Amino acid sequence: MLPVIALVGRPNVGKSTLFNYLTRSREALVADYPGLTRDRQYGRVKRGERDCLVVDTGGITDDQEGIDAFAKKQVEIALQEADVVFFMVDARDGINASDDAIADMLRKLGKPVVLVVNKIDGIDSNTVIHDFYSLALGEPVPIAASHGRNVHELLGRIDELL
Ligand code: GDP
Ligand code: MG
Repeated sequence: MLPVIALVGRPNVGKSTLFNYLTRSREALVADYPGLTRDRQYGRVKRGERDCLVVDTGGITDDQEGIDAFAKKQVEIALQEADVVFFMVDARDGINASDDAIADMLRKLGKPVVLVVNKIDGIDSNTVIHDFYSLALGEPVPIAASHGRNVHELLGRIDELL
């Protein structure tokens, strides 16, 4: 079984954009993989020494649900399947109540979490990044998923955590 990265975060932070960037190689999309639930999107991430699987949890988003129910579902997926959780937040929006709810649960999870601050293109990431330390999930990693900026460095974090 390959290590599994779960992309977790509220709607619109860029999970699917990062998923697409990570899995854009031809054989990336994983239709069937033993032991994995089918109703989510899985992809294979090509990496030098060791490939990973990445799962986009966006499909379970339901705007009718309250924040707590949403956060709970996200974290349940991470708990069930992930070896590493990429918790994505939006550099432009800052931290909101949904982020706080998800972060609370992730801190109790006991799995490695990387705090990913997306959409740093065109903004001063050094200034913005400081706010996100308050989520108490370690050093935030700034990226721009739509440009692939700093994504290589983000993947490098996995090796420290597995
Ligand atoms: P998801 O709901 O978390 O899957 O978010 P999406 O991947 O669908 O992205 C939500 C919106 O943010 C889309 O309009 C994306 O084009 C945009 N977006 C994603 N990543 C970036 C980024 O790095 N920079 C900017 N400026 N926009 C981004
Ligand atoms: Mg999505």
